[in-house]
Amino acid sequence: MKVHEYQAKELLSKFGVPVPKGKVAFLPEEAYQIAKVIGGSVVVKSQIHAGGRGKGKFKDGYVGGVKIAKDAEEAKEIASRMLGNVLVTHQTGKEGKKVEKVYITEASDIQKEYYLGIVLDRAKEQNVIMASTEGGVEIEKVAAETPEKIFKSWVHPVFGLQRYQVRELGFLLGFKGDQFKQFCELLEKLYRAHEECDATLTEINPLITTKDGRVLALDAKMNFDDNALLRQLEIASFRDLTEEDPLEVEASRYDLNYIRLDGTIGCMVNGAGLAMATMDVITLEGGMPANFLDVGGSATSERVKNAFKILLSDKNVKSVLINIFGGIVRCDVIAEGVIEAAKEIQITVPVVVRLQGTNSEKGMELLQNSGHNFLTAKDLKEAAKLSVASQRET
Ligand code: ADP
Ligand code: MG
Repeated sequence: MKVHEYQAKELLSKFGVPVPKGKVAFLPEEAYQIAKVIGGSVVVKSQIHAGGRGKGKFKDGYVGGVKIAKDAEEAKEIASRMLGNVLVTHQTGKEGKKVEKVYITEASDIQKEYYLGIVLDRAKEQNVIMASTEGGVEIEKVAAETPEKIFKSWVHPVFGLQRYQVRELGFLLGFKGDQFKQFCELLEKLYRAHEECDATLTEINPLITTKDGRVLALDAKMNFDDNALLRQLEIASFRDLTEEDPLEVEASRYDLNYIRLDGTIGCMVNGAGLAMATMDVITLEGGMPANFLDVGGSATSERVKNAFKILLSDKNVKSVLINIFGGIVRCDVIAEGVIEAAKEIQITVPVVVRLQGTNSEKGMELLQNSGHNFLTAKDLKEAAKLSVASQRET
């Protein structure tokens, strides 16, 4: 799960990580009041679940999702341009994201920008800390062009973060004297926050030194392990559904493993492995899947009905491929779910069905007698071919 910068900073402050003062605003007037309290020049930051805001551009041509304001008046003006506007950055895709809130924070006198991140390295089964003096810019670019400028340190899950690792990173980044001490303390607190919050990613880009000698987290991005949310109630309450794909939100209400993709063929499959294979075969046949959807090994007709409705309400879907291998789940149950859904939502695209395994003949029979024109296929290759060929013209 992702959270906003202001929420990540709230969490990090609780662990003692130094961040600039700030508060979130939903209205330009609130932005004014907050800026007044902070005093002096402030920075107005669009809050969306994506980075690259500083270099982003709004749909109406307004430039910059992170802007400095010399006083409260100007902060209010900037907030009124940002709120309700759609921000496009290299991370949002071209459709962008609507800004519903802005973070008003004190402007820092930046001396230098660094990068500091903690991420789960799944291959090594350890957290890795990444640090670089090349902060502020896109770290992906640094990683691709000058990987030697990113220092890495892996943390053993049993022994935890060792003081020598923290000091080594501090030395490699070139910190000295009091700033070295500040950096070490910050990293130790950041790592504790990452672990105790069940984060999968904690990224400070930039980490800065100020002209008056402080070390601060100027930006903060955190992602959390969805499976840990049941013991992270505060973090779970930070979930912002307006930032998520509405169809994915709907699917999560029914416990469906659904991820929306860019293609045009809606897939309904049982089992993640079979779903992956189905997507591969569709691609081999020249099509593009519109989603990944695993209805699960114990799908009920109710679940199948909801899944099918979600597929059909995706405007990009031009044909649907239902590929079910009946093991524990019975094919007739799947067929019933599909037919139930068809009663509630009009089917306007061709639907190709391939049922194999337990009660497949009974399932096919139900579909054929349902009054709907389902296309049937014997094997996956044929089904994929048919779903590509039958796509509704637009
Ligand atoms: P994003 O990563 O989404 O572009 P950041 O929070 O990193 O957003 O901000 C982009 C840039 O804006 C930073 O690299 C920094 O140079 C500047 N900036 C952000 N917040 C402040 C601040 N409080 N004071 C001064 N400059 C800031
Ligand atoms: Mg940043």
